[in-house]
Amino acid sequence: MSEVSLNFDDDKLHEECGVFGVYGSEDAAALTALGLHALQHRGQEACGIVSYDGGTFFAHKAQGLVGANFSEGSVMDRLKGYAALGHNRYATTGEGGMRNVQPLYADMDFGGFAVAHNGNLTNAHALRKELVKGGSIFQSTSDTETIIHLIAVSRKTNLAERFVDAIERVKGAYAFIACAQDQMIGIRDPHGIRPLVLGSLGDAHILASETCALDIIGAEFVREIAPGEMIIINKDGIESIAPFEQVPAQPCIFEYVYFARPDSVMGGRSVYEVRKNIGGELAKEEPVPGADLVVPVPDSGTPAAIGYAEESGIPFELGIIRNHYVGRTFIEPTDKIRHLGVRLKHNANRKFIEGKSVVLVDDSIVRGTTSKKIVEMIRAAGAREVHMRISSPPIRYSCFYGIDTPTTAELLAHEKSVEEICKYIGADSLAYVTIDGLYRALGEEKRNNEQPQFEDACFTGDYPVELVDYNNNQTGAKVTDLRERERRKS
Ligand code: AMP
Repeated sequence: MSEVSLNFDDDKLHEECGVFGVYGSEDAAALTALGLHALQHRGQEACGIVSYDGGTFFAHKAQGLVGANFSEGSVMDRLKGYAALGHNRYATTGEGGMRNVQPLYADMDFGGFAVAHNGNLTNAHALRKELVKGGSIFQSTSDTETIIHLIAVSRKTNLAERFVDAIERVKGAYAFIACAQDQMIGIRDPHGIRPLVLGSLGDAHILASETCALDIIGAEFVREIAPGEMIIINKDGIESIAPFEQVPAQPCIFEYVYFARPDSVMGGRSVYEVRKNIGGELAKEEPVPGADLVVPVPDSGTPAAIGYAEESGIPFELGIIRNHYVGRTFIEPTDKIRHLGVRLKHNANRKFIEGKSVVLVDDSIVRGTTSKKIVEMIRAAGAREVHMRISSPPIRYSCFYGIDTPTTAELLAHEKSVEEICKYIGADSLAYVTIDGLYRALGEEKRNNEQPQFEDACFTGDYPVELVDYNNNQTGAKVTDLRERERRKS
């Protein structure tokens, strides 16, 4: 979910998320806490669990990490029931506070309704305006709340139909888990941009953003929820329907590059293996003859660096050690802290770096803060040469589908050429994997430019789902125009 920007100076997304749900276990809330813990990388700012015992809903939501909020017996004892759903929230601003922490809950005409959302609705603001005009009173600034209001005003009779009714009006990327009327519902957007998987544990059914959340509770992976599929779980079992418009599947490519946990399996591929493959492609495309060492920027650069080292035959060393007790760089809310965060997080392993020509591998450059600091640090540790290799193409366009990125204008690669970025970060050379190299790492021959196999807008500017709110509020600067400008420049 993301916050609906109410002033429009801000096209920035604020959140990425992880969702998890259990139906049919006496330990539903405890299993959900564990599932959320495994999905902690998808959101560290706040977390919440809502449980349901067939009559009553129970909720606990808090700022901070899952382990800190869901380990006490007194909290877990309150979350009774055989069904539970949970949410991890990733936000870079403190705005909204507790009222945006999910799962969101509402008392509807049919009873309680709880919903957790990963993704971003690209027409949430337009819908919200319309709903407010019609009398809806919003409690949060979250785009997710739009769904609750759309369900509330739907004239259909049963919940599943009302949910479909609501979803047909929204655009964007989403994985929803909802619980109401003795059933749990899972929905994945028609393109399958955001991930959602189905698992089982004994008689219980599980829904989760990633398979690593099934592993933590010893659940079996059943299958992915298909793009555009709606799953309805109740006491009688599972029903699957495909009520939405049929469009080509385009799962988010950035999940493979950075966001998903490497031990997860997505689209039948090991995320770790894909990252190693990208490193291999990068080594083929952008070799560094005569380099002494391949060093990952840990942790996200590590699998690609292993792949690079294997392909090139250059020795791999942990030339940078990461302090694991600091959150991801992006979680720091201000630029000043973000800069500091890099130093808090990484230290050069000096003995291995001194006098060496180093190939540094990271998964992506966003604002360039990390790379600049890391290159400086490696040089200060006595490296002879620093060659930066990035296991994704340049990020030139902001994500509007649920991954937190700065605005397009703030992305280092939006205005700057590779050469300029190299100068900015202070490396001896800089190279990125090509988009086709990335697709090859995913098992495709190349990107199908007519109908891309993945949603890769952050690299290409090809947004498969209309950006209604963004385009409504830009005077003459639609996202597609940004891409045109870029084309004209190059
Ligand atoms: P920057 O310092 O702004 O260039 O950010 C690049 C670093 O942030 C890389 O090391 C990535 O691993 C990491 N990163 C990339 N995308 C994201 C994201 N959406 N959220 C958090 N971290 C990210």
